[in-house]
Amino acid sequence: LIQPTKRPGLHIIHISAEMAPVAKVGGLGDVLTGLSRSFQKKGHLVEAILPKYDCMDYSRIANLKELDMELHSSFDGKIYENKVWTGIVEGLPVYFIEPLHPEKFFWRGQFYSTEPDDFRRFTYFCRAALEFLLQSGKRPDIIHSHDWQTAVVAPLYWDIYVPLGLDSARLAFTCHNFQYQGVQDPAAITACGLSARDLMRPDRMQDNSAHNRINLLKGGIVFSNVVTTVSPTYAQEVLLPEGGKGLQGTLGVHSKKFFGILNGIDEEVWDPATDVLIDHQYSADNIDGKFINKQKLRERLGMASQGDDEKRPLVACVTRLVPQKGVHLIRHSIYRTLEKGGQFILLGSSPFPDIQREFEDIARQFENHPQIRLVLKYDEALSHAIYAAADIFVIPSIFEPCGLTQMISMRYGTIPVVRRTGGLADSVFDVDDQRHPEEQKNGFVFDDANEGSLSWGLDRALDYYTQRPEWWQDLVKRAMQMDLSWDASADQYLDLYEQVLSKVKV
Ligand code: ADP
Repeated sequence: LIQPTKRPGLHIIHISAEMAPVAKVGGLGDVLTGLSRSFQKKGHLVEAILPKYDCMDYSRIANLKELDMELHSSFDGKIYENKVWTGIVEGLPVYFIEPLHPEKFFWRGQFYSTEPDDFRRFTYFCRAALEFLLQSGKRPDIIHSHDWQTAVVAPLYWDIYVPLGLDSARLAFTCHNFQYQGVQDPAAITACGLSARDLMRPDRMQDNSAHNRINLLKGGIVFSNVVTTVSPTYAQEVLLPEGGKGLQGTLGVHSKKFFGILNGIDEEVWDPATDVLIDHQYSADNIDGKFINKQKLRERLGMASQGDDEKRPLVACVTRLVPQKGVHLIRHSIYRTLEKGGQFILLGSSPFPDIQREFEDIARQFENHPQIRLVLKYDEALSHAIYAAADIFVIPSIFEPCGLTQMISMRYGTIPVVRRTGGLADSVFDVDDQRHPEEQKNGFVFDDANEGSLSWGLDRALDYYTQRPEWWQDLVKRAMQMDLSWDASADQYLDLYEQVLSKVKV
């Protein structure tokens, strides 16, 4: 066990359902690892607690071993045993909790979202994680939980674990997407030891719309000392009904402790100068390699690459195909690009069968087409090749808490065309918008979630690419040199931690 002795920094423990690259569903996994590594570089002790999923990428965990401890935790009024494992992920110490429970909570071949008992699985995990902190003698300064899956850590901490003596910490909570809230029949909360009667109040965990249900995400907001979300613009949007998805009132009441901090990206993982998953490494000093990557990918996917075709702009999109991402606009951008003489590659997959089917139909329509390719699966290596090869990247999201793909694109010199929402509005600044200083301009931004507005943004990008090649090269270099690291954002989190800790000491 790693015990904090005398140390210069803070002791921060994340309790999370995801951590890249071992257990990644979406942006949360990347955030946990990127932010933690940045804290660690700044001299803080950072640890994470995760479920021990059967389907993790075990090849990316170093020194995995079982701890010599018996962890008993309570659920449904009974005591269950857990194994605790420890290992190193990307240089960070991680504890994995393996429940020896007959329902095999984390032995399902998948992480979450499709399991009908997700509420039970994660309330069990949160209780066991706090029990681990108590029994192992860890006394962190900050316990940081994320999204609805670990939001229940906050009420559990104050109601059960502070009275038991686990009282060194202040609680931070980050919501990465307000669409998913963990809403259930109130009886479900009693399994982890909390009182449904105490918590079913409008100022505690009663759902704001379905008054007979309990809402885990709301518990994370109400009972944490500081609450953040993943961009300043999204933090404003969720105070309104459309963005807050029912929690706008709760966030309004707690607005003094609620902040938006823009995510960064892990600049070591996403670096075209060292990326082994791309054909030819390159940097802002010499972007010729980008063209080699484009040619190689065109050949690999059977797209036209010779003669006049060589000059065509390559537009790409890498995404989960879910309504949030503006699927009808993604579809429109394929046809619009074709009309304008460009090429298009889509890498994406959908958990919704009707959306998946719709895109399979489009893929079939363009099966041997020289300019269009749809790859409808999750493929990490291909995503790197696409970021490196493409000229333009479209992100027409209906809402976007932060978004990572626009930042990854920029890092690879691929110019984003985005809708002005959430974190996209905080990280992409239109080349034609005179309100921004020249050095900040890095892409194309459109306002409305309709085809006309998207075409306006995409057409300008395609026209500039074709008509002003030298200007475009400068734009590519500028985008590649933007500071997208975690450094500044990690400092903002640390400031908030210090603020809540200093309030305790006064
Ligand atoms: P979200 O978390 O809503 O899915 P983000 O933009 O925050 O969106 O993060 C998406 C991450 O998942 C990026 O790293 C992106 O490259 C990756 N990704 C999305 N779809 C795919 C796919 N089909 N294949 C490979 N990587 C993907």
